[in-house]
Amino acid sequence: MKKKWVYAFTEGDGKDKKLLGGKGANLCEMTQIGLNVPPGFVITTEACLYFLDSAAHEMPDEVMGQVREHMLQVEQATGKGFGDAENPLLVSVRSGSAMSMPGMMDTILNLGLNSRTLEGEIAQTGDARFGYDAYRRFIQLFGKVAMGMPDEMFDEEFEIVKQDARVTEDVGLSAANLEEVCDRFLQVFQTHTGRPFPEDPYEQLELSIKAVFNSWMGRRAVDYRREFNITPAMANGTAVNVCTMVFGNRGNDSATGVAFTRNPGTGENRLYGEYLVNAQGEDVVAGIRTPKAIDKMDQEMPEMARQLAELRNRLEAHYQEIQDFEFTIERGTLYCLQTRNGKMNAPAMVRTSVEMVGEGLIDREQALLRINPDHLEQMLYPQLDRNVRAHPVAQGLPASPGAAVGQAVFDADRAEHLGRVLGMKVILVREETKPEDIHGFFAAQGILTSRGGKTSHAAVVARGMGKPCVAGAEGIHVDVQKREAYVSGQLIREGDVITIDGSNGNVYFGEIPTVEPEFSRELNTLLQWADEIAYLRVMANADTPEDAARALKFGARGIGLCRTERMFNAVDRLPLVIEMIVAETTEQRQQALDRLLPIQRSDFRKLFETMSPLPVTIRLLDPPIHEFLPGEEQLKDDIEKLEHLKDSVQGLDVLNGALALLSAEKGTSEAKIPQLVDTGLIEEALKTKALMLRKVRDLTEVNPMLGHRGVRLGITYPEIYRMQIQAILEAEAECAAKGIEVHPQMMVPQVCTAAELKWVREYVDEIKTGVERKTGQQLNCRFGTMIEVVRACMRAGSLANQADFFSFGTNDLTQATFSFSREDAENKFLPMYNQNEILRDNPFEVLDEKGVGRLMQLAMQWGREVKPDLSIGICGEHGGHPASIDFCQRAGLNYVSCSAPRVPVARLAAAHAFLNNR
Ligand code: PEP
Ligand code: MG
Repeated sequence: MKKKWVYAFTEGDGKDKKLLGGKGANLCEMTQIGLNVPPGFVITTEACLYFLDSAAHEMPDEVMGQVREHMLQVEQATGKGFGDAENPLLVSVRSGSAMSMPGMMDTILNLGLNSRTLEGEIAQTGDARFGYDAYRRFIQLFGKVAMGMPDEMFDEEFEIVKQDARVTEDVGLSAANLEEVCDRFLQVFQTHTGRPFPEDPYEQLELSIKAVFNSWMGRRAVDYRREFNITPAMANGTAVNVCTMVFGNRGNDSATGVAFTRNPGTGENRLYGEYLVNAQGEDVVAGIRTPKAIDKMDQEMPEMARQLAELRNRLEAHYQEIQDFEFTIERGTLYCLQTRNGKMNAPAMVRTSVEMVGEGLIDREQALLRINPDHLEQMLYPQLDRNVRAHPVAQGLPASPGAAVGQAVFDADRAEHLGRVLGMKVILVREETKPEDIHGFFAAQGILTSRGGKTSHAAVVARGMGKPCVAGAEGIHVDVQKREAYVSGQLIREGDVITIDGSNGNVYFGEIPTVEPEFSRELNTLLQWADEIAYLRVMANADTPEDAARALKFGARGIGLCRTERMFNAVDRLPLVIEMIVAETTEQRQQALDRLLPIQRSDFRKLFETMSPLPVTIRLLDPPIHEFLPGEEQLKDDIEKLEHLKDSVQGLDVLNGALALLSAEKGTSEAKIPQLVDTGLIEEALKTKALMLRKVRDLTEVNPMLGHRGVRLGITYPEIYRMQIQAILEAEAECAAKGIEVHPQMMVPQVCTAAELKWVREYVDEIKTGVERKTGQQLNCRFGTMIEVVRACMRAGSLANQADFFSFGTNDLTQATFSFSREDAENKFLPMYNQNEILRDNPFEVLDEKGVGRLMQLAMQWGREVKPDLSIGICGEHGGHPASIDFCQRAGLNYVSCSAPRVPVARLAAAHAFLNNR
């Protein structure tokens, strides 16, 4: 049987997006569920891949044959003929891959027009103006997409005709004017391409199909796929959709529009969108004419508004998802031209999820799965501080919420350079954006445009990316050449800081302070559902009671890592810590530790109380202790200054002596320079600094991250770990005495052998007995180990004998597994590794399943062979990363722990991980 490359909308499988592309599959599905879709067919992604793979970029032989067969069917369905001079069939040609990539690829409209069919079209419609308008649009799109001609070539000619005709708006042009535009366009086409405009509709079609196939490898599409990690497994090649043209510009009973079945900015359950009477689809998207809000339609076209509402309900009921659809009304008949799942910002996704469950449209699992966990971060973005009174200098449409501050830049390349290469915060300010600006979006904090509506390119793309956007701020005049803009009579130069608020459309000069957002009721509901479904428990990395309170607000179910060194760094403790480090004898050190003990105990008690009754995991001291001391250079500098000071003070003594002598000689009373500084004090300071310098030199290591840190420290300076253990246990006893339920856990960092763990465990057992005896409380603090060096993974079985739980420190474990310095790699070679796909991801961000993950699996297996109920978690940065959380679920961990602001993301990701791995 010959291979099938082409499917009619009536026969294609609406589920097969890989083969037919998302748009094509949807056109098939919509047709087959009885929506009014103009007849057409899809050429498969397989044909695209064949074409791109073939050396000469040739389509499979049978494709055009099958296209002709399908065109016959379309002719039958419409009663028109492709290339028929009397009653011509016109079609659109659009791209569409398995993953939605809005605006990334190409579209050609009105294909089938030529000098002969144009006459037929005019005769059929009785509207010469309409005919020429359609033709000039086709010539330009065909020239641009199929022949790679720049838009400007056509725009210049168009402007000339407009100027000659003395009109400013396109609608002011007469049929004769548009005829002239067509003539000029045909001429430009011939001059540029060296050939006349193709008259044969099948030649037009074949060239267009090939152009759409080629656009899959165009820069915009390739950049988009890279940015959104769209792999060939997700979308490979684009399909081509050939669809009968219907016209929204056939008079006042015609219209075109784009709509979302619910508001994509707020989630409100109301049809949302824009339409234009007597216009073609591209007019809405391009922002050339200002469209009307869809809720005005029932005043202007009540029957159409009713049908549109019905279409909306059918779309949602069928797709069980918010749809972003395009429609055209041609002489009173409503057509649905396209639909896809609506891209919304996070607040709208969350609200619609919760509401659709309430409406019985979807269940809780669907509600959770439709939201990308990473997008939740958007809801945690800062908003402008309402208490700050600032006057906006301009206002546009609130196109994508959230506030953004940055330096104004006026083109995408500059945005990319300043934002991405130089790491500055920038706001991309444009008159309007086009798909080729996409790299500027990636680099910018936010987008501001002076033209276009809420469904303009800028708005849709920014919303999809979760970046704040203000669109259509008409008071702003952008001069790209001069790299400046005017607003309210004032100049914004490139580099001037501006603030935009995508939630209300305001634009401000300068930086406006921002505040943390509040959790919405819907988000709380959704995350509660996530917690009920998830298997992995989500805990937080938090070091202070304030951090812990924040973690609780974000829904953490315990603290998985408290890095105690952060407590040592507080101003009231650091002098004590330094005293402990520079101590010359164990007794001196003990004295300093005795003063630190009550401070640590109170830290721990407050943490336990804040988190009660949730578990709190405290890690004993980890970093090399020289980190608490100043650097060698700093100390040398201090000593030099003190020496100078000492000399100066001694000089003052000399001066005083000289003054005494002088006054005796002259018989005058003695003048005396006051004694400003006691040299004894300077001596003392010098001694301390010298001692610190010696200590710093003693402690210096070539490789401190692999050096005297973690448990090694606990064994060589037992009094430090003993103080911390005592503080933890006494804090537990204090809580127990007050009747507060607490579940403390302590864990030991950098362990590589069970003997280390046993060594520390012996301190714990001994101190615990002492504290229990002294307080009369029974203590239950659990004892565990971090697993963050390779040997610990290999010896997990024997470590399990000494530990109640394991916590993977995947930051260090990644460093140890790759032998990449976690401090340096990301600034040195990793970007190049990622760009060249030597490594697909940054392993410090995305857990490396094949290496680090494999080690974790082995450690878990061996640990649980010894202790089947061993509790195992992760507290490296990966604990807040959705793909890594998915791995943790598959690997069988019990919990993940991440920084507090990532907790909501991790909660949703944990539910996804469970649902996706059932
Ligand atoms: C780790 O190594 O993953 C970890 C959590 O510890 P730290 O980042 O403090 O070294
Ligand atoms: Mg570590």
